[in-house]
Amino acid sequence: MSELKPCPFCEGKARFERIGNARRSTVVVCEDCGCRHESGFVGHMAYAGWNNRPHENKLKADAVRDSIGSVSCKGDTQYDVLRQLEEYADKLEKGEL
Ligand SMILES: [Zn+2]
Repeated sequence: MSELKPCPFCEGKARFERIGNARRSTVVVCEDCGCRHESGFVGHMAYAGWNNRPHENKLKADAVRDSIGSVSCKGDTQYDVLRQLEEYADKLEKGEL
């Protein structure tokens, strides 16, 4: 994960106001609405505080899982598609996508 997600409130562009280190916190700000998030994440993990969206991830994963019941393919293809959808939903829920 190497870029900041859009603002969770207005979908605006987010940027680092400050990247933290051992002494200072990381601050991310939305350029549109001014929403700010301060966290103790530093270095390559600086993105984690802002980008971590467990509720959003769960909603997306649930939507994929809900669609699984409507998948209909022939033979082995259906098994592969269902398996891929389940793996996709798991990754969504873990925030890996
Ligand atoms: Zn915003």
